[in-house]
Amino acid sequence: MPDKLLTVRECIARSAHYLREKGVGTARLDAELLVGTSTGMDRLQLYLNMDRPLDTGERDRARDLLRRRAAREPMAYILGHREFRSREFEVSPAVLIPRPETELLVDYTIEHLIARFPDANGAYRILELGAGSGAICVSLAAELPGFHIVATEISGAAAEVARRNAARHGVTDRIDFRVQGDFAGIEGPFHAVVSNPPYVSNADAREMEPEVRDHEPHAALFSGNDGLDAIRFLLGSAGTFLVPDGFLIIECGFGQAPTISELARASGWLQNRVYKDYAGIERFVLLEK
Ligand code: GLN
Repeated sequence: MPDKLLTVRECIARSAHYLREKGVGTARLDAELLVGTSTGMDRLQLYLNMDRPLDTGERDRARDLLRRRAAREPMAYILGHREFRSREFEVSPAVLIPRPETELLVDYTIEHLIARFPDANGAYRILELGAGSGAICVSLAAELPGFHIVATEISGAAAEVARRNAARHGVTDRIDFRVQGDFAGIEGPFHAVVSNPPYVSNADAREMEPEVRDHEPHAALFSGNDGLDAIRFLLGSAGTFLVPDGFLIIECGFGQAPTISELARASGWLQNRVYKDYAGIERFVLLEK
């Protein structure tokens, strides 16, 4: 950690070394981003100003941010935002940080809506369980202007973040946020029900990175002993909200897709498709009644 006046170059080098020692895998990149935040420079400006000394205010800010990162706080919480489908989303510890693979959930939802309902002229109604930061519902609404979405979220603090993200991307009037963990009082029907529910089993907590396990909201991650409680709720409740040919699409965890398909068949879902994520893991299950 820097003690006296350091140049940008020295500060980044020391910071990267410090983060690496704390087990941070992306130490150099994170050091650059945090020194950049402390000095009000983007990465290009940093490279053009490597020999400029940090003033004491900048150095103190850098030290605070580096300590947080060394405690394995995720970068997205420290910076306060994360990009999802090329849009910037506010994030805070109240919400799960949007993951790159969840962008595919939005793709498959749009693809199936258009293929199944070509005559709807883009006027689709969608129900989401567990909006979190709003990454999924705000992206859907921003990308297709006829979308109307009812988005539930059990955490009031998370719903506030989601509402701000809807406002930031100009879709407030097309998303009806409800602070609740179920579908009580919601009136259908919908063309699709979408969810990236909590799906991690309690036992898997041990194998998680500290960034996830120690900093992200447990209500957004964990769902009972086998991780399937929220998905069982969806299988039991989503069907009655769908129009004919409507579908349920959910994100799930490694190795869960076959179990979900079996549970779905047992509760009367007709057909399903499973899609893989970028790593080749079966990540999304699509069901219809
Ligand atoms: N994909 C997340 C993780 O592995 C979990 C997200 C979720 O439970 N919906 O950290």
